[in-house]
Amino acid sequence: MLVRLLYASRAAGALDEHELQAILKSSREHNQQEGITGLLCHNEGIFIQLLEGGRNAVNGRYKQIIDDPRHRDVILLAYDEIGEREFAGWSMGNVQLSRLNRAMVLKYSETGKLDPYSMSGKALTGLFHELVSSGAIVCS
Ligand code: FAD
Repeated sequence: MLVRLLYASRAAGALDEHELQAILKSSREHNQQEGITGLLCHNEGIFIQLLEGGRNAVNGRYKQIIDDPRHRDVILLAYDEIGEREFAGWSMGNVQLSRLNRAMVLKYSETGKLDPYSMSGKALTGLFHELVSSGAIVCS
């Protein structure tokens, strides 16, 4: 039973590169062990994370993520059962959203500025699919 979960949150404070790398490092370690794949996007104090994997693994990890004091205002945007993974190659891809093509974001949002709090989970998932399939974002 595979699921895909998408949420957004705001960084609790100014996040430097070192802190972000620490989150990514521990995420990749845990996620690989638990068979969780996906993306962690960040820009201007906003996180958007997409998690794919077994239902128990994703639910359990999401519960821990919600309680993390390094971010706040966690909003669940989408939760779906899926037949197959779309982001299978990435234990946790790191995407710097400031590098995104504005025109592509505009296709899925009202203003071209990526604001997950005013977008549907469906639109954001669609944007991620397009970003990956077009090669606009690559796992770093
Ligand atoms: P530890 O890493 O030992 O952490 C124990 C507790 O301390 C946890 O409650 C943790 O939230 C907190 N903590 C750890 N470091 C700090 C710090 N520098 N400042 C304040 N509190 C701290 N983890 C994953 O495994 N997979 C993910 O995909 C993932 N995505 C994340 C996305 C975001 C935006 C954030 C903020 C965190 C994410 N994490 C992720 C980390 C996750 O929230 C937990 O820290 C982790 O799951 C707990 O790992 P652990 O049991 O080894 O505990």
